[in-house]
Amino acid sequence: MERLDIDHFLKLLEDAKREVETNLNHLRDELMGLERSEIRDEGDIASMSSERHRYALLIDHCKEELKEIEHALDKIENNREEFGVCEMCQDEIPIERLLVKPFALYCISCREMIEEEKSK
Ligand SMILES: [Zn+2]
Repeated sequence: MERLDIDHFLKLLEDAKREVETNLNHLRDELMGLERSEIRDEGDIASMSSERHRYALLIDHCKEELKEIEHALDKIENNREEFGVCEMCQDEIPIERLLVKPFALYCISCREMIEEEKSK
């Protein structure tokens, strides 16, 4: 794709990947620390399970993001002309959006539609 500086995006994606992986390791450590912490009473059990739930959600979110990043990297590697193209409507994703989120799979309007579907 001509309009995009692929090398620049490759670097952005690699940075993003490293960052998410670091976050993920950190979250897993925290979660492990939580598992090891001492339980003294009912209140501890309740707060621990809500904490654990919170971590589980964050970890899921990171994993999801990591998958999207790897997908984008894979596209650059194998399907370069599809990088930066919305997977739903096949329109070009605006470069401003890609600079903020280089692993975006959809344009903003498609993303909104998907989010809306999900929240139903
Ligand atoms: Zn779209």
